[in-house]
Amino acid sequence: MRYEDARIEGVRRLEQAGIEEAENNGKELLFYCCDFTATAYLLHKMEEMPEEKVGEYFALIEKRQEHIPLQHLTGECYFMGYPMKVTPDVLVPRFDTEILVEEVLKLKAQFQAPRVLDMCTGSGCIIVSLKKLWREIEATGSDVSEKALLVAKENGLRNGAEVCFVHSDLFENISGKFDVIVSNPPYIRTDVIEGLAKEVKEHDPMLALDGKEDGLFFYRRIIAQGQNHLECGGYLCFEIGHDQAKDVSRLLADAGYEGIYVKKDLVGLDRVVVARKG
Ligand code: GLN
Repeated sequence: MRYEDARIEGVRRLEQAGIEEAENNGKELLFYCCDFTATAYLLHKMEEMPEEKVGEYFALIEKRQEHIPLQHLTGECYFMGYPMKVTPDVLVPRFDTEILVEEVLKLKAQFQAPRVLDMCTGSGCIIVSLKKLWREIEATGSDVSEKALLVAKENGLRNGAEVCFVHSDLFENISGKFDVIVSNPPYIRTDVIEGLAKEVKEHDPMLALDGKEDGLFFYRRIIAQGQNHLECGGYLCFEIGHDQAKDVSRLLADAGYEGIYVKKDLVGLDRVVVARKG
């Protein structure tokens, strides 16, 4: 079997199993399995694929057919162009979250060397990429999950980003004040989780998804407890669920925040809310 035949068969099996982005996933798994770059693949695709590689590839395809996320099979993904290690202990970084990073980067004009806290950092993708793209920040990432923090630390090292990672249940072990607090907290309403894709509900950590009864549990706490940890004139930047812009904006307004605005993601859904502490 040639590499190209294996890829076509892999994609066919994924399509048959109803896997989204079968074409891309079939290709990515082959590249991963055979250590191919796009160019190397083009050069070698008509060559015979070694027997053991064929076995390895279709074993990966079988796992993907069972809805194990692509990123759990390859152990990594790219976020803001940076490679991030991914394990079942962290939420798989989403493209939509890049919008949040981009909004924080827009604050560059206002701060020289701000202290930035990423609350609920998970894989660390937000704070690691922020540190790479805004070198002057003093970067802190925190999470309640020690296992997630191990992954986040590796991502910091892997990308040469100096970030201080703190184990903390929300602000419990956080001291001092920050100029920017950024967070993609768990925000899915508990009763909605059952309806999510298998890749999400069965493989992303429940701890990273569940925003409790109304999905707003963590926003309420971060907004309330964050008051003591945000400088006046500092910013709170949240990723939100597509139907949470109104509720989160109201929570922020009630807490006295100013200049509240909502930013949409690439498919036009509300995705980020930014507010300034007056
Ligand atoms: N955006 C993720 C999803 O759609 C959820 C992330 C979160 O809860 N913070 O599954």
